[in-house]
Amino acid sequence: MTTARLACRLGGTDGADVLVVGAGLAGLNTATLLARQGHDVLLVERRTNLAGAIRTTGIFVRKTLDDFPLPPDCLGPPIRRVVLYPPDLRRPVSLTSPRDEYRVGDMGPLYEATAATAVDAGVRIALGTRYTGRQGNTFHLAGRDGPTTVRARFIVGADGARSRVARDLALDRNHHLIVGAEEVFELPGSDQPPTFHCVLDPSLAPGYLAWVINDGQHAHVGVAGYADRYPDGLRRAMEQFSASAPGLTGVERPETVERRAGPIPVGGLLRRISCADGLLVGDAAGAVSPLTAGGLDPCLRQSQLAAEVLDDALRTGKPDTMANYDGAALRPHFRGRLMLRGILARVRTPATAAAGFTLLRTPFGRAAASRVLFGDRSFPDPTPK
Ligand SMILES: Cc1cc2nc3c(=O)[nH]c(=O)nc-3n(C[C@H](O)[C@H](O)[C@H](O)COP(=O)(O)OP(=O)(O)OC[C@H]3O[C@@H](n4cnc5c(N)ncnc54)[C@H](O)[C@@H]3O)c2cc1C
Repeated sequence: MTTARLACRLGGTDGADVLVVGAGLAGLNTATLLARQGHDVLLVERRTNLAGAIRTTGIFVRKTLDDFPLPPDCLGPPIRRVVLYPPDLRRPVSLTSPRDEYRVGDMGPLYEATAATAVDAGVRIALGTRYTGRQGNTFHLAGRDGPTTVRARFIVGADGARSRVARDLALDRNHHLIVGAEEVFELPGSDQPPTFHCVLDPSLAPGYLAWVINDGQHAHVGVAGYADRYPDGLRRAMEQFSASAPGLTGVERPETVERRAGPIPVGGLLRRISCADGLLVGDAAGAVSPLTAGGLDPCLRQSQLAAEVLDDALRTGKPDTMANYDGAALRPHFRGRLMLRGILARVRTPATAAAGFTLLRTPFGRAAASRVLFGDRSFPDPTPK
């Protein structure tokens, strides 16, 4: 089903039990779960087309693929092999898992299929509609037909890393961010095993890594890091990496490629993510692994918890139920990953990154890297009090 056929138009006197802002996976999933509980849910999204302006590579990890029913026809081939490169790309460390570890989503169709599921559950989706502010339980929107207001008992901020809803609810906001950019293009097929190539070079990707995913169907070539540490800016780093990226030998790059970019919160789950009037989910709540910068698994898991708490609050009419959605209580689960983020952030020169490879090439280093790359850690499972 295409985006246009999913969308509803807003009337002047619209109201809902819950207004969800943002149709990324966090917003779509939260909205669907709430509608399935019988609640009236309005989801607003500023983009006019869910298949456009995508801001993710779309790598789904094994645990997500095991636990969530993602549409299989929107997923690329399984990936088991990861190759880690030092800045000079010499003597890379190759790790192969005995299991399928990753699949890359075809994110345009995947968002549209997820939105179709939401609509089937009863969610009303208004595309091309931006949330602009609130006065109590009246929310201001700017849509294709001009400004309008809706009333809702609760608002869900699923509006990404720089959440306007977080600001308006006076909740915590993301301050520790990296920025990423990538190019995506189709491949005619490959006789090589699907592989995730990661380059640790702080001059290209300060505080994070540069990557190439070649799964035989699509290539993703990207860099991410701290915005103020790129010597010549993110764009230049992307161009530089694109010209020398590993894993694409013999691949002819098309003239036009899809470009994606966006901020990624890496400061760990925020502490204050709910109040009597609403809550935050996904990137808006900082629910991203501080180490791997993966946010798709956390946003799906956290939206289950968000929907449970909101369902409880709507059924009981007790706003203090919202206090069960507490980032401070979950934050200790991220302690180890925050510590490793601190170490990665301190790798500031190619020489330090190269020195790290001396350790990575040892059996201990390989085992530690395998634990990070092929491990089962994810967002804590939803168990509201
Ligand atoms: C370049 C890049 C690559 C990444 N790759 C991966 C990866 O491979 N695997 C992984 O696990 N994670 C990855 N991440 C992180 C992951 O994509 C995010 O954590 C995840 O998509 C967050 O989902 P979300 O629904 O919370 O937010 P988003 O997907 O950002 O959705 C927020 C939505 O809110 C809308 N919105 C914002 N403001 C308003 C407003 N005022 N009114 C209405 N709508 C609004 C936006 O248009 C957007 O659609 C990547 C991030 C980036 C930037």
